[in-house]
Amino acid sequence: MAVIVQKYGGTSVGDAERIRAVARRVAVTRLAGHEVVVIVSAMGHTTDHFLDLSRQVSPNDHPREMDMLLTAGERISMALLAMAIRDLGVEAVSLTGSQAGILTNTVHGRAEIEEVRAFRVKEHLDRGDVVIVAGFQGVSAVNKEITTLGRGGSDATAVAMASYLGADACEVYTDVDGVFTADPRLVPEARKLDEVSYDEMAEMAGAGAAVLMSRSVELGRRWGVPLHVRSSFHHGEGTWVRPATAGPPRLIGIAHDPDQALVGLAAEEDAAVVAEALLAAAIPADTVGVGRDGAGAAVPRDQAAAAVAALAARPGSGEVVLNEGVGKVSLVGAGVADRPDTVARAGEVLDAAGIPVLLTAATPLRLSSLVPAESLDEAVRVLHGVFFAPGPGGAR
Ligand code: ADP
Ligand code: ASP
Ligand code: MG
Repeated sequence: MAVIVQKYGGTSVGDAERIRAVARRVAVTRLAGHEVVVIVSAMGHTTDHFLDLSRQVSPNDHPREMDMLLTAGERISMALLAMAIRDLGVEAVSLTGSQAGILTNTVHGRAEIEEVRAFRVKEHLDRGDVVIVAGFQGVSAVNKEITTLGRGGSDATAVAMASYLGADACEVYTDVDGVFTADPRLVPEARKLDEVSYDEMAEMAGAGAAVLMSRSVELGRRWGVPLHVRSSFHHGEGTWVRPATAGPPRLIGIAHDPDQALVGLAAEEDAAVVAEALLAAAIPADTVGVGRDGAGAAVPRDQAAAAVAALAARPGSGEVVLNEGVGKVSLVGAGVADRPDTVARAGEVLDAAGIPVLLTAATPLRLSSLVPAESLDEAVRVLHGVFFAPGPGGAR
């Protein structure tokens, strides 16, 4: 009898009918003789709604109370799903992240899972119950406070649970058929990938492909848990995320991130100066280079003010530049930056489309360009059209 871990995202449990559909799928898996643990996200846009509500109530930061608020979203869906499964004659019980033994550090809003002590999950499985676990949340082992894992964090809960229970894989059910060569909502002709490596997926996710939380991919790699990203609407195979198989280097896809800001130093010609200042302030910046307005970096938009302060505090730094109206488009694939023809072609394609490139940076697996926010979608489409066109001359 195998342990099956299934995670259902927000759209998949978005309303009563969808919750009943998930319940049927879970019940069928249980009745086939498997032990089943289900991780759920908050329904639909609940988390965004709570964030919005909190801003209406208070303009200030309340990290602890914010986590108390946001964790309520997953609590709603876990209870409703347990009810729907029980109505099908299958025993089911819901547990919060804390009850399920997801132990984290103390960092509210983006806690790291440090340990899983899912004794209660095991007890219920031994009794034959389906166990529903609220995703995205845990409890600090040090101070017993409730924490959240960051946006998309239910994916991390699911991988942690799959690892703890020794499941063969972690099934991630979502509202698209798998991982595509670009966001299929933006690029309808994007192709589904049958298999990607942890490295490739981590790079796509880190560059903005929200279909998986990038941290969950890193946990999958660390703990050796393959992920199967698939549709909650049908039974077709999705995309497997697992160790790399031998083969020639290949381009994987185009990822985009609209929530970026460009910060920089106008007179600076050394990108390392910007990188060091941001690193010292613990601001994530994985796209640093010299662009049209001096040395600069892409940072998450909600950290733009902190990044500006970090650069301004540097002794002798000249004019600090901030542009919050940017987006990041990334061509992901092994060795992209080592292929001068690819780098040149990407620049030409954007230029030909009249899209100004404000900054370009490369890593071994990624070539990223910052473009004006209003041109981001178009940049994704034109790059995808050139690098992933169907037939010969397409994805290589
Ligand atoms: P869930 O609520 O199931 O976790 P998310 O919204 O977090 O769903 O992730 C699924 C979404 O990710 C899709 O609806 C799609 O728009 C987006 N997405 C972005 N990039 C990709 C990609 N390369 N492949 C598939 N989906 C992607
Ligand atoms: N509900 C959380 C979010 O919207 C966690 C998740 O969906 O995985 O980010
Ligand atoms: Mg998600």
